[in-house]
Amino acid sequence: MSKESPLQSQARRKFLRSAALLPLVHAGGVLLGASAATSTTAQAENAAAAQREFVRVPGSALAAHLKSSPLAILPLGSVEYHGPSGPPGTDSMIATGLAQRLVPRLRASLFPTVQYTHSPAHTAAFRGTISIRPETITAYLTDILTGLIAHGFDKIFVLNGHDGNIGSARLAISQVTQEHQDAAVLFVSWWETLPGPLVDSLRLFSQPNGGHGHGGPLELSVAAAFAPESVLPGQGPDLPPIQSFTEDFPYYLEKSRAEGWPGYSGKLSEISPEKGERLVQIALERLQQLVETWLANPAKPGSW
Ligand SMILES: [Zn+2]
Repeated sequence: MSKESPLQSQARRKFLRSAALLPLVHAGGVLLGASAATSTTAQAENAAAAQREFVRVPGSALAAHLKSSPLAILPLGSVEYHGPSGPPGTDSMIATGLAQRLVPRLRASLFPTVQYTHSPAHTAAFRGTISIRPETITAYLTDILTGLIAHGFDKIFVLNGHDGNIGSARLAISQVTQEHQDAAVLFVSWWETLPGPLVDSLRLFSQPNGGHGHGGPLELSVAAAFAPESVLPGQGPDLPPIQSFTEDFPYYLEKSRAEGWPGYSGKLSEISPEKGERLVQIALERLQQLVETWLANPAKPGSW
């Protein structure tokens, strides 16, 4: 090994110093580092988000924080196998990352991401998944929402990152809105803001449904935008699209086993953080618009 010149060692020290100062935002146990895909705007939004994190506010400042936050945001994630290219924290990283960039725009209070949740049998069988029983997670979410309402939030935005949360979250929301007068809870799964035809029009992925699917190129590109070090494109063979029984109307079919399914879908070779960042921008715009419209129209009926 050759000896460093004084100039080289100075440059090395400077690099290490700047690397140590890279903004690391810690929320709900998810560590998000600055990356090539993270724009300056995103970094500024992350810094602003840190100030809006409920669990980081000193006790003496909590009352003022609550008073200045008309909305609570609760991200939901999972600990679930996401194929060979994605980390088990994929859903948590995405829900947390989107929420962190939304809170400053919405003057919301950001609550810790719920990471241990229920996963369906077909992903629960893989190494990388820790699944909580449905009745446990439903009761747990009900208690969290009840706690938020007790802190004075009558508007709560649940930002969901995991398909397996839909049933239990809706039950919990149904329970608390029956028990607490004037409470309103908006629930959105982030990927619903990116319907297949819209993503297809961007020509980011070659498969015909916008790259959607568990552990597929759309989801993992978005995860890579938030945590590029945790996503490795092309770690498994590209898979053909899954054929549905019908394209005309949605249905729900759950099986205890998915024999031969490798735990992911789509073309892993098409994952990229740059594509993910583009999708994040669209999702953020659409989520912000939805929440602002909801807050501006409190008398509008809910989903019934
Ligand atoms: Zn997922």
